[in-house]
Amino acid sequence: MPVLKLAIPTPLRTLFDYLPPDNVEAEALKPGVRLHVPFGKRQVTGYLVELSADSKLGQSALKQATALLDSGPLLSPGVLALCNWATHYYQHPPGEVFQAAFPKAMRQGRAHRSNDEAGWELSNRGKGLPSGALARSPKQALALKMLQDSKQLGTNSLKQAGIQSPILKTLQDKGLIQRCEINHGDSAAAIGEALNPSAEQAKVLAGMRANDRGFSCHLVEGVTGSGKTEIYLQRIADCLERGDQALVLIPEIGLTPQTLARFNSRFRAEIAVLHSGLSDAQRYRAWEAARSGSAHIVIGTRSAVFTSLARPGLIVVDEEHDQSFKQQDGFRYSARDVAVKRAQLEGCPIILGSATPSLESLHNALQGRYIHHRLRERAGSSQLPTLEAVDIRKSPLQAGFSPALLQAIEHSLQNRQQVLLFLNRRGYAPTLQCHDCGWVAECPACDARLTLHRKQRRLRCHHCGTTRPVLQRCPQCRSDQLLSLGLGTEQAEEWLAHHLSQWPLYRVDSDSMQGRESMQTLVDQINRGDPCILLGTQMLTKGHHFPAVSLVGVIDMDAMLFSTDFRGEERAAQLLTQVAGRAGRADTPGRVLLQTHHPDHPTLMAMLTQNYHQQALSMLERRCQSALPPAGQLLIARSDCTDAEYGEQFLGKLRAAAQAQLPTGITMIGPLPAPMQRRAGRFRSQLLVHTAERRLSRLAAKVLVELAQQQSVSRGLNWSLDVDPQDMF
Ligand code: ADP
Ligand code: ZN
Ligand code: ZN
Repeated sequence: MPVLKLAIPTPLRTLFDYLPPDNVEAEALKPGVRLHVPFGKRQVTGYLVELSADSKLGQSALKQATALLDSGPLLSPGVLALCNWATHYYQHPPGEVFQAAFPKAMRQGRAHRSNDEAGWELSNRGKGLPSGALARSPKQALALKMLQDSKQLGTNSLKQAGIQSPILKTLQDKGLIQRCEINHGDSAAAIGEALNPSAEQAKVLAGMRANDRGFSCHLVEGVTGSGKTEIYLQRIADCLERGDQALVLIPEIGLTPQTLARFNSRFRAEIAVLHSGLSDAQRYRAWEAARSGSAHIVIGTRSAVFTSLARPGLIVVDEEHDQSFKQQDGFRYSARDVAVKRAQLEGCPIILGSATPSLESLHNALQGRYIHHRLRERAGSSQLPTLEAVDIRKSPLQAGFSPALLQAIEHSLQNRQQVLLFLNRRGYAPTLQCHDCGWVAECPACDARLTLHRKQRRLRCHHCGTTRPVLQRCPQCRSDQLLSLGLGTEQAEEWLAHHLSQWPLYRVDSDSMQGRESMQTLVDQINRGDPCILLGTQMLTKGHHFPAVSLVGVIDMDAMLFSTDFRGEERAAQLLTQVAGRAGRADTPGRVLLQTHHPDHPTLMAMLTQNYHQQALSMLERRCQSALPPAGQLLIARSDCTDAEYGEQFLGKLRAAAQAQLPTGITMIGPLPAPMQRRAGRFRSQLLVHTAERRLSRLAAKVLVELAQQQSVSRGLNWSLDVDPQDMF
C-alpha cells in the first residue's frame, strides 16, 4: 500500500503521512480526494496531495486514515496544481491553502452531492393523456399541464406552484408520473448579439484571437468607458462557443446588478456567482456548478480564483489594479497573481483589464511577458473630463468647501446636471479634541484616534471596531469645550443638506450603504439623470458609471498626496483617475476640481498635466531606479504580540539566524515597529526583506519560514510572512 501525503488544516507548513483506510482500492486514492483522519485527539478532513512509496517516519509509525470521503477528486487538476504552487510560493501551510479551494460543507467533511435535483416527469401512460385532462382535480390538472409543457420539473418548482407531495403521490399511484433526476449539466450556452466593435476594440480582439492556443496573458489598458467589458464579453462568447467555461474575477464591491444584467442579457447561460454575501448553501451550489461544468460562466471575488472548473477556457480579471484582490490576513495571496499562474497551469488565455493598471502588470507588459493592448478613446462619443486644481490657501472654507467649488456645484445643478463629491473619510470628524487642555479621543487598543460619528452618537475606531459613547465633557479637565476637527462625509452631508437643500443629496459610504440592495436602489435613482449631489468615499469609484455627472469635486486632494507608503503615489493616481472617470458624456464633458493647499506638489502637477499612462511610466522608472517592486521583490516577516519587546526580539533572532544562511543580494531592514504599532491591543513589528532577483526572494521566504518554525514562541506571539506585500502596515 502507498503512503498518503495529506494537507491538513493546521498552521504547520508540512504535509502529513498516513496509511490508506481499510478496504480501499489503491486506484481510488487520487490526489484531490478528501479523507477523514485522526489528528491529535480529533478527526479532521485532510486533502490528498500526493502518494509516496515510503515515509521518512517508517510505515509502522504511521496512523491510518479513517475513511475515504470521495469517489473521485473534487479538485480539478489545474486547481490541485495551483494549490501546490501557492503553498510553496506563499510559504503558507498547505492545509489552509487547500481549504481555500473548498466550500464550507466540504471542509467540514460532509458528503459531496451534485446540484442535480429530484424531480418528476410524465410516465408513458401520462404522456398519453390529452391536454386539459384531469379537470375534476384542478391541482392534478395543473401538475399535468406543467409537466406536459416542461417535460421535467424539480419538486421545488412544483411546490412553488402549489402542488404538494400528496398530489404528486396520487398521480404517481395512478401511474401517470414518475420520479427523475434533473440534470443541470447538459445545456449549451446561447450567445446574444455582440456590439459592433470600434476600430480600437477590433484590433484588440484580433490580437487576442491570434493567440488562442494555450496560455497567453493580455493586459487591456483602456480608459474608463472605453469598452473593456465589451471585449471581455466577446472573448467569453468565443470561449463558450468552444464549449469551455470562463472565470471572471471582479473586485470586492465591483459586482453590481448592472454588470450581472449585462452578462445575463448577452448570454443565455448558467452563471455561477461567488461573493462574500452568499449563504453557505448558495456558495456550495455555485462551487458545484463550476466544478461539475454545468455553469458556463463563473463570476466571483478574490477567493473564486481557487474554484475548480471542469473545462477552463478563459480567465478575466477586471480592475486588476484593485487592492481587494490581495488577501490581507491569514493566507495572504494576490488573486490577480494567482489567476495568472492558474491560466499558465490550465493552458488558457487570461485578460487583465484596467483603466489604471498596476505598475506590476504594466511592467510585465512593457517587458513583453504580457501582451499589451490599449484603448485610448471612450466608446461612443463621450469625452474624458478635464482636471483643474483649486488653490484653497487663504480661501474661506465652509465644511471644507471653497467658494470656487460651491459656485461650480450650484452652476452644474442649475444646468440640471449631477455632481459627484469625493471625500475618502467616513464619519463626522476624524478627531475629537478638548479645546481647553488639548486632550484627544484615542482608541484604547490602537495607536489611532477615534472617529466621531454624530448621528450614531458614537466614537468609533476604524481599525479595531471599538466604539464609545460620545463624551459631553473632557475626561481630563471636565471642560465641555470639545471640538470636532477635520472633515468626514457625515459632516459634509450635514452642511450640504442645509445649504443646498433644494437638491437631492445621496451619501455613499460603508456606513450609509448597508447591503447590496441599498446601493442598487440608489444607482437606479441616479441613472434617471435628474440633478442631484452624490457624496461619497471610494465606494463610489467601483463598478459604477454615472453618465449624467458633469462635475466631480475632490474635497481633500491633499489627503491623497501625502503617504508614507512607496505605493502611495500609484494609489493616488489610480484613485483620482477612477473618480474622474465616473463623469462625462457626449453633450456635457466632465470637469474635475481638486481642492488643495499644495497646488505645486509634484504628484499633483503630474496628475494635472499627464494621463495615467504617462504618470505610470515615470513612476515605474523611479521604482526601477530604487529597485522597488515591480523591479525588485519584497517580503515582510511580521510579528504581533501583547508584549512589544518580545515580538521585536523574535524578529531580531530570526534576522540573525537568516543572515548566517542567506547569500548576498538579500537586504534585511528591521525589525521595526509597524507604521501603526499597536492595533487591537497587539504590538506589531516587521522585518522587511528586499531582493533584486525573484530567485533570491523565494529562497529567502523558504529560509525565513523554516527558521521561524524552529523558534519556540510563547506569550501568544503570532508571526506571518507576507510575500509581495501590498501595504506596509
Ligand atoms: P469599460 O468596461 O471600459 O468601462 P464598457 O464596456 O462598459 O467600458 O463600455 C462603456 C459604454 O460604451 C457601455 O455603455 C457600452 O455599452 C458602450 N460600448 C462599448 N463598446 C461599444 C461598441 N463597440 N459600440 C457601441 N457602444 C459600445
Ligand atoms: Zn480637557
Ligand atoms: Zn482601535
